[in-house]
Amino acid sequence: MLIPTPRRQPAPAPARALPSRPSRVRAALPTLRLSVEGLLLLACAWLVIAANGPFVRAALQGRELADASAWGFGLALVLGVLALHLLLLAPLAGRWTVKPLLALLVVGTAFASFYMQQYGVYLDPSMLRNVLRTDIREAGELLGPSLALHLLLHAALPLLLLWRVEPVTRPWPRALLMRLGLVVAALAVLGVALLSAFQPLASLMRNHKEVRYLITPANVLWSLASVAGAEARAGKAPRQPIGLDAHPGPGWATRSKPQLVVLVVGETARSANWGLSGYARQTTPQLAQQATQTPLINFVHTTACGTNTEVSVPCLFAPVGRRDYDEATIRGSQSLLHLLARAGVGVTWRDNQSGCKGTCEGLPMQTVQDLAPPGLCADGHCLDEGLLHGLPEMLRRSRGTQLLVLHPLGNHGPSYFRRYPPAFARFQPACRSDDLRRCSRQEIVNAYDNALLYTDHLLAQLVAQLQARADSLDSALVYVSDHGESLGEANLYLHGMPYAIAPDVQKQVPMLMWFSPGFAATQRLDLGCLRARATQPAAHDHLFHTLLGLLDVSTTLYDPAWDLGRPCRPVSPST
Ligand SMILES: [Zn+2]
Repeated sequence: MLIPTPRRQPAPAPARALPSRPSRVRAALPTLRLSVEGLLLLACAWLVIAANGPFVRAALQGRELADASAWGFGLALVLGVLALHLLLLAPLAGRWTVKPLLALLVVGTAFASFYMQQYGVYLDPSMLRNVLRTDIREAGELLGPSLALHLLLHAALPLLLLWRVEPVTRPWPRALLMRLGLVVAALAVLGVALLSAFQPLASLMRNHKEVRYLITPANVLWSLASVAGAEARAGKAPRQPIGLDAHPGPGWATRSKPQLVVLVVGETARSANWGLSGYARQTTPQLAQQATQTPLINFVHTTACGTNTEVSVPCLFAPVGRRDYDEATIRGSQSLLHLLARAGVGVTWRDNQSGCKGTCEGLPMQTVQDLAPPGLCADGHCLDEGLLHGLPEMLRRSRGTQLLVLHPLGNHGPSYFRRYPPAFARFQPACRSDDLRRCSRQEIVNAYDNALLYTDHLLAQLVAQLQARADSLDSALVYVSDHGESLGEANLYLHGMPYAIAPDVQKQVPMLMWFSPGFAATQRLDLGCLRARATQPAAHDHLFHTLLGLLDVSTTLYDPAWDLGRPCRPVSPST
């Protein structure tokens, strides 16, 4: 019997593995083989075209588009900037380094170009330092859907293309020859661009040299190198002490009560929107009310030392201020706070933002986050009233001579609406987005003004609490904002413009003082005289010497010409 041979079942076909997602992308996007020099040229062309619109616009400002010379100048600028970047990158880009280097540049440039195009930011070392020192909570508010879209187009897409490029390997003599060829060609283009546009370029650099901080990504690279160099130098040497001769003035021995000065270093409040200084809207109703009953003195024309926190805060506590500004000296030296502590003043810094920028290094510091005031903190943010947490008890225990520095979040942008509780949302409709471009100018101003209303409330509370203890504690309050803010004027937002070209709204800040009757009497302060002084121009430069005067600390660093209270005291205790 024949047993039929069972038919062999065909072996099942092996399941074909689906290609992984990167493989599918790889299949859709073929590999592009390019020399390192070709890749550099393409990448630099992309960076120059995608990110240098603000530079070219600023450089051509005031020129007629119909004018052929404007086009010639514009072309020379673009070619010059391209050649400059090729020369910067040529020594660093090798077969293995070119892709990581370009990837970093593409991402850095995408972030930089977003803030430059959206907010009119100039990326100089001071701005970069400000960016690097911004804490994560503050940085989170600068992210949004517009940035995500920008990054998709300006970072993700170029990165995808870069990923598919395979740099060609060449024998080293040929590779060297090609690199030399690139450098010579770039030098030639730069030379021709400079020569052909020498006159307008020289005039631009003479009159508006800050535009160089719009050349991207060279501005990022230069600023990074500059900040890293300054940090390395500062890291090596300890801060130089200042005012080693500081000692208590004659008034300390004759006082019957403890003395306290509260200094509030405000954030991003601008004079133009300050009710007490004549803004059409009453953004300081509580202080205005107090001013009718107590010696509250508003300085109407106060100029800030810088246009960002990183410049203004250290400058506020330095003897020279803006008039002889030298960043390296200020950063390399101790601050007024160290000098006062050495003289015997009890100094405490209470912070609700990104720290004291080195000015209180080694001195007692508290953060509102650590104080955890009930009901005032959520999602990593605390409202500024947290700065007053436990203050009555602090005032009750105050002994000797004290300086309490409060550092609120104030009007820190762009999320002004996060700075105040609902009860202060008086001006409506208010922008409630982290992305200012999603709001109208009026909505932005409304949110900004609501945040000022809350600062007004904070300061009024502070005055009330100091007043309540006036029988046992002589006290003074000084409030000054660190810098102002642009709210869409001339299409500018936020702050941090180079000082020389910053609009007044970024430089003019509110400043006020309040004195308990006992404090004014001990100082023999003529408040009418100080009120008259407050109508005249003042500056951050005055703060160092004015505080020495108010706290009655003697030192040879004290300059009576810069003490706002000096003309209003019969004899200055500090001279
Ligand atoms: Zn600031």
